[in-house]
Amino acid sequence: MTPTSPAVLATATDTHCPYCSLQCGMRLAPTPGTSAGGAPGPGLPVEVLERPDFPVNRGALCGKGRSAPALLARDVRLTGPLLRDRPGGPLRSAGWPEALDRVAAGLARTRTEHGPDAVGVFGGGGLTNEKAYLLGKFARVVLGTANIDYNGRFCMSSAAAAHRRAFGLDRGLPFPLADIPHTDCLILVGGNPAETMPPAVRYFRELRENGGTLIVVDPRRTRTAELADLHLQPRPGGDLALALGLLHLVIADGRVDHAFVAERTTGFERARESAMAHWPDRVERITGVPADRLREAARLFGGARTGMVLTARGPEQQSKGTDTVGAWIDLCLATGKAGRRYSGYGCLTGQGNGQGGREHGQKADQLPGYRSIEDPAAREHVAAVWGVDPAAIPGPGTSAYELLDGLGRPGGVRALLLAGSNPAVSAPDAGHVTERLRALDLLVVADLVLSETARLADVVLPVTQWAEEEGTTTNLEGRVILRRRALDPPEGVRSELWVLRELAARLGVPDGFPVEAERAFEELRHASAGGDADYAGISYARIAAEDGVFWPCPSEDHPGTPRLFLDRFATPDGRARFAAVTHRPAAEEPDETYPLYLTTGRVLAQYQSGAQTRRVTELNAAAPGPFVELHPRLAERLGIADGEPVAVTSRRGRAVAPARITDTIRPDTVFMPFHWAGAGRANSLTNPALDPVSRMPEFKLCAVRVEPAHPEVTS
Ligand code: SF4
Repeated sequence: MTPTSPAVLATATDTHCPYCSLQCGMRLAPTPGTSAGGAPGPGLPVEVLERPDFPVNRGALCGKGRSAPALLARDVRLTGPLLRDRPGGPLRSAGWPEALDRVAAGLARTRTEHGPDAVGVFGGGGLTNEKAYLLGKFARVVLGTANIDYNGRFCMSSAAAAHRRAFGLDRGLPFPLADIPHTDCLILVGGNPAETMPPAVRYFRELRENGGTLIVVDPRRTRTAELADLHLQPRPGGDLALALGLLHLVIADGRVDHAFVAERTTGFERARESAMAHWPDRVERITGVPADRLREAARLFGGARTGMVLTARGPEQQSKGTDTVGAWIDLCLATGKAGRRYSGYGCLTGQGNGQGGREHGQKADQLPGYRSIEDPAAREHVAAVWGVDPAAIPGPGTSAYELLDGLGRPGGVRALLLAGSNPAVSAPDAGHVTERLRALDLLVVADLVLSETARLADVVLPVTQWAEEEGTTTNLEGRVILRRRALDPPEGVRSELWVLRELAARLGVPDGFPVEAERAFEELRHASAGGDADYAGISYARIAAEDGVFWPCPSEDHPGTPRLFLDRFATPDGRARFAAVTHRPAAEEPDETYPLYLTTGRVLAQYQSGAQTRRVTELNAAAPGPFVELHPRLAERLGIADGEPVAVTSRRGRAVAPARITDTIRPDTVFMPFHWAGAGRANSLTNPALDPVSRMPEFKLCAVRVEPAHPEVTS
């Protein structure tokens, strides 16, 4: 498994960061001393330079993006396939033919013995559009399974469901980020871009410099909340009641835009009735937010000429996430702050291709172009592109958590191909999910590093990463951008597209799986044509020439669509639909045994499950491990000192990490970041209760008990 050195391809390559949904533009240049076309020296082959011309981040990058080349180093990544010869045995090096033969034989055997739905595919929101598209095609055409879903279900599916319910279309932001500074009032709910996507903070600062008002809703006084004019600090799970309380007040204060409501919406009356039951004192009791602060927020937002509401994982990762987002959308609709320039609702998507990843077929209920897999016309269109009978395309499969929960059980998936995801750390109730992964007859993991999930696999396939491949992603604005290759991968590494072609051929489908990303994209264009997420007019050449193209873009002479809904919403009658929802408690509220809320989130120097960022020395130095954030009053009551090990216990598991005492958090709530495995794994605690519409698990809150950890437990 000795790789040859990768060759650097060019003197400088414009591309994008591999991490979050901002997809910052960056330039990769050969590290000084490395000649183009040659092998690098002992250091990293490329270095990151700023790319000020890319409009989204204008050269700014956070530490994750700047340090991304560290993952190209041979000592942190996989450089050849690994196989396990017997359950519980060690992983050993193998050649590609042996690894692929083993995977193909295992998938075929499971399919023969247990039926096609016993084979599953689990994708990721970091995969390029081309990979997501071909992964979905592979599942439906080659494996014939309905069981494909992906970790984006954990990320933004509630916002997507609410978007579609209200507007008939789901695109994270219906406007470019550059519109933010021009709105009069923006409410950011449950998001912390100052840590998750720092270059985006500029837009919020500019908004305030222009005289606009920023309101942040978060149970923690985060770095983002510090920037706000008004910070509302509800209990976890209080966002739904809070939105309804604001709607109540704008109605009571006569701030409804009746002309907009009449001309461009339906269902206001039911929403009004629901909001009337959420008067300020009641909302204060539910949320802990003082009624006078609620009134202030309603006055600022309701009185603004233009306004935006942005949500992130806080309100979305709840068992009522779809309704919570729906309530915030209702607030926008009632005040006429949607479908107009500098107004609207948007979602700050998380993963690098969180937007495109949900559009092209790796979701259980979708076909490419954001089509429903249950729509006969959609099935016919996609089947024609794929050259198959529409009846051969399976129906909808189970959602991500349900798929994982069923692994190895009767009727569940017994052989799983997993790409670009690390559910052993990132799934809710991760201890249980790890048990289910162990129960599989065959687990195949395609990744660039030996993640915690890859360590459980029977076969590990090493795949290329961002600087070594071409492909498109779609950022949080709906802007389709082009990732370019700056260097060759190590000799033992292959792209997922190559892996899919090889497996498809072994499983009897020799054609239809191009290895070249641009060819895959050309097919994706056809498959998406006429769908909601219509990429038909987008080409690699256009993306390169225009710094990205916004979908929908139905033809080559179409300019793309930076702003949605200005003339009509994407519903059959062109009107936005009020959700008209009511408050309900979380699936699990604190009680005598588990008296505190746990909420989870991210920190600046780590990313998602940490599989990549924990391998980067400078990021690890900045954020070396998990912690438990708790208020000084709570710490005093529990007899916990700063830095001491703390045990956090929920109905599902236990985690131990040092205490971090801060008055920025509510006294009834503790916070843990979820980037780490082992004893400090926050997702050992989280609740997999699902939203009934989006099937999003309730990552954002559960009930826990907190106590000092005994030394023997922490060791
Ligand atoms: S903000 Fe996101 S895309 Fe930009 S450099 Fe940081 S991690 Fe990368």
